[in-house]
Amino acid sequence: MAENNIVVIGGSFAGHSLANALAHKLPATHRILLVEQNEFTAHLPGVVRGLVEPGWEERNLTAPTRQETVFKAGTRHRVLAPVRVLELLEGRVLLDTEFEGSTEVPFGKCIVATGSSQRSPLRPEPGATRAEYADALRLEQAGFGKATHVLVVGGGAVGVEVAGELTTHYPSVQVTIVHGRSRLLETGEQVPFGTQMAPQPDTDGVHTPYAYPFVPESVSERVDAQLRARGVEVILNDRVRFPSSEEHTGAVVNGEVDPPAWDGREGLLPGMRAVTLASGQTVHADCVFGGSGAWPNSSLVSAVDPTALVGGYVAVDPNFRILSSAPALKDVYALGDVANTGGRKTAGQAVGEARHLAMVLLSHLACEAQGRPPAAKAYAPGFLQSILVPIGEGRGGPGDGIGAGSVDLGWLGVWRAPEWLLRWFAKDYFCSQHFVARFQGEVGVKDL
Ligand SMILES: Cc1cc2nc3c(=O)[nH]c(=O)nc-3n(C[C@H](O)[C@H](O)[C@H](O)COP(=O)(O)OP(=O)(O)OC[C@H]3O[C@@H](n4cnc5c(N)ncnc54)[C@H](O)[C@@H]3O)c2cc1C
Repeated sequence: MAENNIVVIGGSFAGHSLANALAHKLPATHRILLVEQNEFTAHLPGVVRGLVEPGWEERNLTAPTRQETVFKAGTRHRVLAPVRVLELLEGRVLLDTEFEGSTEVPFGKCIVATGSSQRSPLRPEPGATRAEYADALRLEQAGFGKATHVLVVGGGAVGVEVAGELTTHYPSVQVTIVHGRSRLLETGEQVPFGTQMAPQPDTDGVHTPYAYPFVPESVSERVDAQLRARGVEVILNDRVRFPSSEEHTGAVVNGEVDPPAWDGREGLLPGMRAVTLASGQTVHADCVFGGSGAWPNSSLVSAVDPTALVGGYVAVDPNFRILSSAPALKDVYALGDVANTGGRKTAGQAVGEARHLAMVLLSHLACEAQGRPPAAKAYAPGFLQSILVPIGEGRGGPGDGIGAGSVDLGWLGVWRAPEWLLRWFAKDYFCSQHFVARFQGEVGVKDL
C-alpha cells in the first residue's frame, strides 16, 4: 500500500479541492494522505470582514481540518493535521509527526499545494490553533474599533476590500489608501488579455515567467470613484516609506515633533503619527494596515532544487509536474498560489486547477498501469478577467456603491459584474456556499 500514497501537502483551496475531486475516483490501489500544518483552514476571501467586524471570527470563516470533516467514514484516505511536511526526499516526505510508525512517508505521487505566506491574520500563522487565529482577528478588530484615521498601505484587492469594510462598519473613521501604481487593483507585472498565460513545456530550459492577468481599467475606476464618494482619500503613484529608527518627520511645534514620526509598525499606534510617502507628502494616521506582502510558500521545492523556481513560484509544465530533474522532485506536482500555473492567484483559480490536476493524475496513473508514458490534457486557465471586488455590504444611502467587478465569459466577452452578484458575494464572501460545501466528510462543519 505504502508506495501508492498520493501525498497532498496543504489543505486549503487547492489541496482540499484536489482531495475532494480524487477521493471517489482513485483506483482502490491508491489512497490520499492530505497533510495540513494547521488544525483548521480559513476561508481567506471572508477574512477582510473578519479583520474588521467583531463576531465574524465566530462564523463559518474557519473550519477544522479533520478526518471526519474531510472524508466519509470507512474511507482508506487519511487527513494528517496538524502535521507539517519538513522536507521532500526521493519518493518520500519527511513529517514533523510520526504517521504509521515513521516520520518518513513514501509516496507514488506528491502534490505541493502550500500556497502563499502572509502576515497573520491575513493568513493563519503556521501551527496556530483555530482559537489562536480567532484571537488574532479580534486583536485586529479591536485596533480598527479604536482608530480615528486608518492608513491602508497598498490598493490591491485586499487593501480596497478592507477600506470598503472599514467605511461600512465605521463610517466616521477617516481612511487613506496609498497605492504605488497608477490605478487601484493594479498589482505586479500585469499582461494584456490574450497573452499566453498557461504554463509552458520546458523545452529550452527557460521557465515561463509569472505575470498577473490584467484587471480591467473600468473595474479600478468604479471602485476608486465609489471609495472616494464614501470619503476615502486615494493616493496613487506613491509609496509609504518605512523609516529607519533614526529618521524623524513631522512639523516641529514648540520644539516638539507633532505628530511624532511613524516608526514603521502596523496596527493600532500609540497615537496619531506622521507617515511619510516617497513623494515627501505626509499622512497622519493612528492605525496602519498593510494589505500586501504575499509570497509563494515554495521553500520545500527550492530546498531540493533552487532552479525549479521562477520568480519565487514553482515552475510546472502544463500537467502541473514540477520542472526539475532532481530525484526528490520526480512524480511531484504543484498547483495553486505556490505554482507558476498561469492565471490569477485566486481561490477560484486554485479550485479550477485542482479539478484539472485530479483529471491529470487519474490519467497518469492509468497510463502507468498500462505501461504507457504519462499523458493528459494540457491546462488552460479560464475566466482570466473575472474579478469581484466588493467594498463591504454597502451603506444603503443614495448612490452608495457596492464595489465592482467583471465576469469573463470567454468567447461571449467580458461583462461588467451585475450588482446582484456583487451583493451576493459581499453578503458573506461565499463562506456559507463554497467554503462550507468543501467539507464533504462524515461531519458537516456548519457552526462546528
Ligand atoms: C485576505 C485575503 C483575501 C482574499 N480574497 C480573495 C477573494 O475574494 N477571491 C479569491 O478568489 N481569492 C481571494 N484570495 C486569494 C486566495 O485566498 C488564494 O488564492 C488561495 O487561498 C490559494 O489557495 P492555495 O490552496 O493555493 O493556498 P493557501 O490558501 O495559501 O493554502 C496553503 C495551505 O498549505 C498549508 N501548508 C503550507 N506549508 C505546509 C507544509 N509544509 N506542511 C503542511 N501544510 C502546509 C497552509 O497551512 C495552508 O493551509 C484572498 C487572499 C487573502 C489573503
